[in-house]
Amino acid sequence: MKHLTEEQIRDLRETLIRMREKLIASAREQIRDPSNVTFEGGDEIDRADLEGERYLTFRIKGREARLLHKIDYALMKMDAGTYGVCENCGVQIPFERLKARPVTTMCIECKELEEEMEDD
Ligand SMILES: [Zn+2]
Repeated sequence: MKHLTEEQIRDLRETLIRMREKLIASAREQIRDPSNVTFEGGDEIDRADLEGERYLTFRIKGREARLLHKIDYALMKMDAGTYGVCENCGVQIPFERLKARPVTTMCIECKELEEEMEDD
């Protein structure tokens, strides 16, 4: 990710962390509504467990879970120094694209090809 300045990376990292916090917060909201919470096997779960991040990330499902995974993956790649490079063709992904979609792992050309097969 040599094509990105430290400032750009910091900017993207902040965006990713904000996205992550938003996801966790929305999961927390859903849990506040008792109709959304199911207690499998009738086990008692105390409030501290319910609000713990581990439980929350476990509760997050489907599209949101995939996004959370992508956010964590992007942050991990940032730490590894491999962020911002297309995983398919190895091209450096421009900052403008990363800014618009910081979880992306592919350049726009590869993503467009992939999108014909996948809905995400
Ligand atoms: Zn590519």
